[in-house]
Amino acid sequence: MDSRYEVVIGLEVHTQLTTKTKIFCGCSKDFGQQPNSQTCPVCLGLPGALPVLNKQVVENAIKTGLATNCQIAPRSIFARKNYFYPDLPKGYQISQFELPICEHGWLNIETEEGGPKKIGITRIHMEEDAGKLLHSEGNSSQVDLNRACTPLLEVVSEPDMRSADEAIAYLKQLHQIVVYLGVCDGNMEEGSFRCDANVSIRPWGQQELGTRSELKNLNSFRFIKQAIEYEVERQAELIDDGGKVVQETRLFDADAGTTRSMRGKEEAHDYRYFPDPDLVPLVVSEKWIETVRAGLPELPAAKVSRYQQELGLPAYDAGVLSAEREVADYFDALVALHGNAKVCANWVMGEVSRALNENGISVVDCPVSPELLAGVLQRIDDNTISGKIAKTVFEEIWKSGKTADQVIEDKGLKQVTDTGAIEGILDEVIAANQGQFEELKGGKDKLTGFFVGQVMKLSKGKANPGMVNQLLKKKLS
Ligand SMILES: [Zn+2]
Repeated sequence: MDSRYEVVIGLEVHTQLTTKTKIFCGCSKDFGQQPNSQTCPVCLGLPGALPVLNKQVVENAIKTGLATNCQIAPRSIFARKNYFYPDLPKGYQISQFELPICEHGWLNIETEEGGPKKIGITRIHMEEDAGKLLHSEGNSSQVDLNRACTPLLEVVSEPDMRSADEAIAYLKQLHQIVVYLGVCDGNMEEGSFRCDANVSIRPWGQQELGTRSELKNLNSFRFIKQAIEYEVERQAELIDDGGKVVQETRLFDADAGTTRSMRGKEEAHDYRYFPDPDLVPLVVSEKWIETVRAGLPELPAAKVSRYQQELGLPAYDAGVLSAEREVADYFDALVALHGNAKVCANWVMGEVSRALNENGISVVDCPVSPELLAGVLQRIDDNTISGKIAKTVFEEIWKSGKTADQVIEDKGLKQVTDTGAIEGILDEVIAANQGQFEELKGGKDKLTGFFVGQVMKLSKGKANPGMVNQLLKKKLS
């Protein structure tokens, strides 16, 4: 990137909410249904149909606002945003304009230089989505209004980001939060979490913002990064050549890796916003806010610091375990049962996630529950099985759903702690490897591992490795 210019990025994120029904009517918002099968007079915009606000949408907005340090407005207003497009049956979109439900929030991101940086959140408002146009071959287009009136939260940031990497760090954190809260499924491919990026550049030291372009509907972290980086370069070259950036909306072409002009940018006044006369002002009581606050889950940032400070885990482990709420829940349950956080972390990040990946399933469907896994760890602790055999036990539980004790019993996996039995095997090994044994005696310590390994092999992994080591030492002295 051209270092003569400072990059300024603000982001507008649309998150589609996971409510069962739409924002102003009772229609289902299932994805992938027959076109126009999920519609009614309200979302079709028929004359005389009146919108009724979905309470769940408000609750989700409050949750998201609280999780992003926003102030929740005691009174907010729905407004009509007027524009004409075939996928918008009413000729206006119901949104919030002057008085949104959440304002003045922020998130801390980790920057390249290390350390947190605060990114301001200007506002979060509720609005309805438009329908969808399907363009077929030739000149025909069709409209599917199943998506019309689907509830969205628009999260608008301050222009606080200074690189594509900062933008991605902010977006990933916001994505993680809305998924943790369960307000959004986070599916970027289906457009449940999509982003418009306002990008401008200015000479270093200049206070005034440069003219921005708005990159529309970016729906993958990779595309967002590519689009911003391309756009910064384009603007810098334009200014270097004596040109001017014009304010406009641009589309990212993923195949070409470039952006192209879509239309001149509208200003707010182009939309002729006015309060929607069909909807009364929304009043949110202090009590409601507090009830929602009390029901919030522990958020990722809080988890990361608890895992490090209270459980003593390394930063890497804390980050991996808290990345997904379901994984963190599994880990928390396991720690509650077993107690040793580092051992639990190793198992969740090791065997558990390996098996989940191999089988392509999510942790919520993991056949080895935290209870069953805790049973395995307990048998390692009391020396019934070795750590190596524990992996076999884990696999058996995965297949059969039996408890660790049942598997150990059925498969005869109990560790051999009988000194006589282990010594017998060790003698066998020494007898078969006299030469190496003499070398070991002569001080070639590296051979210890060989002898322990042979005993473990002959005992099919059931000998207690600690005891093998002790007996071997005894034989050497
Ligand atoms: Zn409807």
